[in-house]
Amino acid sequence: MHPLVKPALRRGWRDLNTVQFGMTPAHAMTLGPMDTATGSFLDLLDGARGLPLLREEGRRMDLPDGHVDALADRLTRAGLLDDALGGGPAADALREKKDVLDRLRPDLASLSLYSPEPGGAIGRLAARRSLRVQVRGAGRVGALLASLLSGAGVGEVDVRDVGRVEPWDVAPGGLPVESVGERRDEAARQAVRRAAPDRPSRRRDRSAPPDSGAPGFSLVLLAPRDEVGVHAPDPFAAAPLMSSGTPHLYAGVVEGTGIVGPLVLPGGTGCAGCLHEDRTDRDPAWPRLVAQWRSGKARPVTPCDLALATTVAGLAAAHALAFLDGESPSSAGARWEVSVPGLHWHARPVWPHPACPCGAARKAEGEHSSTEEEPHETMAKQRPSTERPRTAETARPAGTWRAHV
Ligand SMILES: [Zn+2]
Repeated sequence: MHPLVKPALRRGWRDLNTVQFGMTPAHAMTLGPMDTATGSFLDLLDGARGLPLLREEGRRMDLPDGHVDALADRLTRAGLLDDALGGGPAADALREKKDVLDRLRPDLASLSLYSPEPGGAIGRLAARRSLRVQVRGAGRVGALLASLLSGAGVGEVDVRDVGRVEPWDVAPGGLPVESVGERRDEAARQAVRRAAPDRPSRRRDRSAPPDSGAPGFSLVLLAPRDEVGVHAPDPFAAAPLMSSGTPHLYAGVVEGTGIVGPLVLPGGTGCAGCLHEDRTDRDPAWPRLVAQWRSGKARPVTPCDLALATTVAGLAAAHALAFLDGESPSSAGARWEVSVPGLHWHARPVWPHPACPCGAARKAEGEHSSTEEEPHETMAKQRPSTERPRTAETARPAGTWRAHV
């Protein structure tokens, strides 16, 4: 192990014997008491030295025997220590591709904020390389969303859509102007390849037919260009995803309202069917309206301004990555919505509905202990296999606490 105090967090002394790591309320932490000699020793924990060399340095600085190990242990328990050599074989392989890793350094630093164990951040980043996701819909939102996931290191991003690129599909980071007139899905796949920090692997899972219910995808992102599909996601269209147990996330723009969510964990959190049932309960005219909207003529150009489309694609990519990295993003069982011109984000819950065949409501009832805890418990069971149990909420060791900043 080559210990490294996480460089993502700025350090500052709150007083003579208390160090604050980080600036923001979300991730800052204070550690104390800590004497100044130990404080100066922190500078040596930069990933360049192994523990034996650090112990030697500690003796030279007159630190007591065992102090260096105790400090490393204490920092580890506080989630503040990384390992410059850790993360396993996939992380080692990534470190060998220096130019790829350099592209991803800010992403790695961000992951280190919520990967408590040493080597955890690079382990998660490396795990993204073996993941497969699919984006359905390659308009302004979908094409950019696919590119973002690829750029963030997801190994395989498949894109599905029909038709040809129209001038109004063009967006920075998404479909380029040169692609107008090309097949939309192929143009989006090219954008994905351009965004990738690494040359795409030629490996393809041939066991999964391209238009099946998407088995083998860690996540499917539904980013329809059709506004009705965004506002009233069709439960029938999601049926193969539900039956194959494929997690999926909705994102899109409808009439100047951007929507991210819900992230559906089939049978665990509220789905498109639950949403439809709940809306029908609250508005008896809902099914009649949806039927009219769906049977109406699709409009080629819809109100979806560039900035809002980019915002939605960015937030959807962040939620998708959080899920793929093994976290529980707030879109599980909720839709985040934002409308022009006020642009105030708010979340609407998507409750599991007893009339929906997905079974999430039955499960929620069966597990009824605390409604607050349910989404997290569900997530814990549904996580991709690449990550380890959540430890963020475990008791903090003595002498560390969240900084109130
Ligand atoms: Zn449902």
